[in-house]
Amino acid sequence: MKGTRLIKILIGGLAAYELLGMMKSGNKTVLRPPGAIDEDEFLALCVRCGKCNQACPYDSIKMGKENLGFGIGTPYIDARDNPCRLCDDYPCVNVCPTDALTGINNVYDVEMGTAVIDTEHCIAYKGMRCEVCYRECPLIDEAIKLNIYVKPDDPTHAVFAPIIDPEKCVGCGICEERCVIDNPVAIRVKPRGIKELF
Ligand code: SF4
Ligand code: SF4
Ligand code: SF4
Repeated sequence: MKGTRLIKILIGGLAAYELLGMMKSGNKTVLRPPGAIDEDEFLALCVRCGKCNQACPYDSIKMGKENLGFGIGTPYIDARDNPCRLCDDYPCVNVCPTDALTGINNVYDVEMGTAVIDTEHCIAYKGMRCEVCYRECPLIDEAIKLNIYVKPDDPTHAVFAPIIDPEKCVGCGICEERCVIDNPVAIRVKPRGIKELF
């Protein structure tokens, strides 16, 4: 067997092994819909029926494909593209036949993740007025607040810096969708299962 062919087979085998591992254990970097139970249990309970996807009036729920490397056919939310709007009646949760999505009694039970601000890229931290994430948050002045202080190098101007309360933020992702900064976006939701984003 030629060396390059052997290398290709080894690389292909490694990729398949990694993909299999991710499919079995899930991918905690994925933002699941409201009410999703812990990732390992979620993958065991979700029967990939797509009912949550069909029930969402905003088309916020996508179904995983194998090229994304996590449970094929399981629901997830790409917040930058189309976040969860926190419907009053949570139709996605109500239609789930297996309780893979369950347990939402009020908005604070949603717990999809927590928004994290990249203060290096957020223009509010540079002293520009923005506050888009703050104003768009459905839990304004709870999940996200403004920290207003005098600009350190310019005492005639104030900084209106958004800050997240991780105890109150439910991870809906509306702030991430609306952020005016791109590549990279300056506020992102850290899915519940992972420790750090920025
Ligand atoms: S709460 Fe509403 S917007 Fe959010 S995922 Fe469920 S159905 Fe979609
Ligand atoms: S409705 Fe429940 S079981 Fe069906 S795809 Fe959505 S999470 Fe999975
Ligand atoms: S993810 Fe953003 S918009 Fe949603 S509750 Fe948290 S701070 Fe507010």
